[in-house]
Amino acid sequence: MTKPHALALRHGLRALATACAAALISTAVHAQALEVTTSFSILGDLVGQVGGERVKVRTLVGADEDAHAFQPRPSDARNVGGAALVVVNGLGFDDWMVRLARSGGYKGEMVVASAGIDTLAMTTDDHHDHDHDHGHGDDGDKADSKAVDPHAWQDVGNVRRYVANIADALAKADPAGATAYRANAERYDGELKALDTEIRAAFAALPAERRKVVSSHAAFGYFGRAYGIRFLSPVGVSNNAEPTAQGVARLIRQLKAEKVPAVFIENVADSRLIERIRSESGAQIGGTLYSDALSKADGPAPSYVQMMRANLDALRQALRGAD
Ligand SMILES: [Zn+2]
Repeated sequence: MTKPHALALRHGLRALATACAAALISTAVHAQALEVTTSFSILGDLVGQVGGERVKVRTLVGADEDAHAFQPRPSDARNVGGAALVVVNGLGFDDWMVRLARSGGYKGEMVVASAGIDTLAMTTDDHHDHDHDHGHGDDGDKADSKAVDPHAWQDVGNVRRYVANIADALAKADPAGATAYRANAERYDGELKALDTEIRAAFAALPAERRKVVSSHAAFGYFGRAYGIRFLSPVGVSNNAEPTAQGVARLIRQLKAEKVPAVFIENVADSRLIERIRSESGAQIGGTLYSDALSKADGPAPSYVQMMRANLDALRQALRGAD
């Protein structure tokens, strides 16, 4: 195209834009929505918070579904392949996304939302060996001592890092939206900061000996580290492994000895084992914790912030004691 043509075109466009600026803008936003595919519901919400109107988020593992047990369909590879951007949790939680992206022909950047956080090893302060056993059963990978707990979103401080990483990635993939992404991230970060303070304050008031609970699988290591609650569980970090009879018996003995006040069901796990542990240990059922997935829209945890608040309320209620 010669220079005069380009100038004429530019003049023409400017006139058109002036004539109906508002209409043009809203059409453009819809037509160019950035298609982002994420692995699981919590991450989908975070990308939606930062992306706002400019992105269309697709999530493979939905509300109340267990990402550890996810079985991808052939259509999932196509969906991942067709995305403008793919965002994963990382830390071994959603490695199947990497395989799907490869088989779907995805050529873009694989954004790891958890990049840069202070990771937690799988076997932390609990005295069981389950985590190790389950690690071995997972992918055939060696569960060496460097294996990392993937459930980093259970610490709001980590999620503030997720949000910053997501904002950077969206701005890079869609530079025209950079200002909007930064503004959304800043607003949302303020909300997260307040939430983090609220959770800390709520638990600081509890006596140390009441700050322990049982959950179905070891999904709350980061929560425990951040907020000073000790979580015990019959199943390790991966949730799809069977606990051993020995391990369950040992856990029940420990619950009785330490007078653990409450056991919790999880939205993504079978509740029968927890019910058995409750009846044999004499602990109370504290309610449901949202570990690895949001609730459906009509549930108590349809967004990340609501999920953390629902967990806080359930824990506070159960640990407060009789007085
Ligand atoms: Zn999990």
